[in-house]
Amino acid sequence: MISREAPRALVAGNWKMNGTTASLGELRLLATMLEGVELDCDVMVCPPASLLMAAHKLFRSGIIRLGGQDCHPEPHGAHTGDLAAEMLKDAGASAVIVGHSERRINHQESDGLIRAKAQAAHRAGLVAIICIGETLEERKQGHTMRVIDEQVKNSVPEKARGENTIIAYEPVWAIGTGLTPSPGEVGLVHAHIREKLVGLIGEPARAVPILYGGSVKPSNAGELLAIDNVNGALVGGASLKAADFIGIIKTYS
Ligand code: PGA
Repeated sequence: MISREAPRALVAGNWKMNGTTASLGELRLLATMLEGVELDCDVMVCPPASLLMAAHKLFRSGIIRLGGQDCHPEPHGAHTGDLAAEMLKDAGASAVIVGHSERRINHQESDGLIRAKAQAAHRAGLVAIICIGETLEERKQGHTMRVIDEQVKNSVPEKARGENTIIAYEPVWAIGTGLTPSPGEVGLVHAHIREKLVGLIGEPARAVPILYGGSVKPSNAGELLAIDNVNGALVGGASLKAADFIGIIKTYS
């Protein structure tokens, strides 16, 4: 049941390190497929940074929002290979993913660094999409809620509000594996995240969207997105092809 005060839903595609200019055709196709479709959600694509400007040109109509996949906490400086949140904004992004588990694991990112990145996003006028989620080991040991508590407490800035922050719950073991928690489990974790957020920032937490991510596809989107406190999805693999992604988005039509 989607309650009346539920935040506006978002279906966001995370392309990760996939896509060259040849892939822009999929974005063009997606925009065409979305034309005239009435949706109860926003749609976003987070392509690799190399495609942001080209994608921005394609989406001048604003039908699809754009996001980056990571940012540096500083606005500029001697940080070879990094991108500032301000640069993503300049290239056409309105949001940026921070703390994706692939960055937490591959780049040893801490909760503190992720909070600094979320604050950088806010400074630049971007929505911070803050990812949290437990590993399989942590789940097996019954530590899921404790891990979530720590990640929320230490990576969500106190100034987080519905207009500048989105939380994405992505169990690490569900990413790219075809596995998902049961709807009951997703519901419990999302309700827990909501209460933890309320504890952190008070009542404004009720307006912060909480996305589910991890093996979302057209065949399971209906069930996952109907769960209370699930305000949309962060989609990896199934966002690369317009035909699959639209199947998920249309859950909200
Ligand atoms: P997946 O990835 O949909 O391919 O599981 C989700 C994500 O990592 O954001």
